Amino acid sequence: MRSVAPVSILLVFLSGPAGCAARKEPLHEFQFLAFGTLIELTLWGVDRDLAERAYQAVESDFARMHTEWHPWQPGALVETNRQLAAGKPFLVPHSMIPLIENSQRLSLASQGLFNPAIGRLVELWGFHSDDLPAKPPDPEAITALIAQRPAMTDLDLDGQRLHATNPAVQLDFSAYAKGYAVDRAIDRFRELGVTNAIVNAGGDLRAIGHRGGRPWRIGIRHPRGSGVLASVEIEDDESVSTSGDYERFFMYNGRRYHHIMDPRTGYPATGSVAVTVLYREAATADAASTALFVAGSDLFEAVARDLGVDRAMLIDSAGKIYLTPSMRARVRFEIDVAGGIPMGPSP
Ligand code: AMP
Ligand code: MG
Repeated sequence: MRSVAPVSILLVFLSGPAGCAARKEPLHEFQFLAFGTLIELTLWGVDRDLAERAYQAVESDFARMHTEWHPWQPGALVETNRQLAAGKPFLVPHSMIPLIENSQRLSLASQGLFNPAIGRLVELWGFHSDDLPAKPPDPEAITALIAQRPAMTDLDLDGQRLHATNPAVQLDFSAYAKGYAVDRAIDRFRELGVTNAIVNAGGDLRAIGHRGGRPWRIGIRHPRGSGVLASVEIEDDESVSTSGDYERFFMYNGRRYHHIMDPRTGYPATGSVAVTVLYREAATADAASTALFVAGSDLFEAVARDLGVDRAMLIDSAGKIYLTPSMRARVRFEIDVAGGIPMGPSP
């Protein structure tokens, strides 16, 4: 959740076949910034007035959620973390409750690989800033933090009353909140009568309905280039979430240090470069893509199963592609991937 947009869009909405009369289509597109990324709304089959109203409503919802859940700028999350550090039970802001409850469930189901309780670790690595860090933190500081084992199970939520049994817990919902916000945007669209649409928030996207009788087609970015690696067609109501080591990273002594942490080691997760998950709700897809990235190729299928996710793709650091059987049936590669994908010279 950044306040500026340093990242490129990870999921590319592919336009329809060449020659379609795009200008005559009732297609409306809007863009704005939130959660540190470009949010793109695509609406089909409604008039301009309704499209404008829906856009205004969703943009203001996003602005509110962006402030509430921002990890380092004043809002409900920063206030929650201040109270957690104080160590006493307190009344948590209402907007935090669904994030905490859902994340506890998803964290447990992913063996703690998705762990929003590691806010201090993400901060220690320097990712709680609009600017990227220049070098890794002191290894001793990492070891000391990890030894305290902050986990979502350290939080007791009783109604609105929240208590942390471990003072090392600081919340960072950046791996989940964007997907959750995408789901709320789709709710808002439906409330207003928009039934064919895409909400794309960088790496997290949900598409409902269709585009003039044709399914929406979504592109998945090549993790080491700007082109499209693969595409999927969405019949009706499905989310696509990608977590990648190219989204936020810095280079130090020729090594890439990215923003997806392995909570077991305190270091950026090794082995994966990108994970894409298809699932009905964007919130779960978001948490799952982060968890499966950390899981790596060995644990990928087992953790996906525990999360109830059956469509997932992992690309490892050698360019090898792992697909669950249901994902294999859905994905269409846009480049030749026999023998893996070229990773290029960048480490
Ligand atoms: P995503 O791009 O959805 O995979 O989310 C990555 C962001 O979530 C990072 O920028 C961190 O703020 C936070 N994060 C990093 N590692 C984890 C993890 N293992 N579990 C939960 N959140 C994480
Ligand atoms: Mg995520």
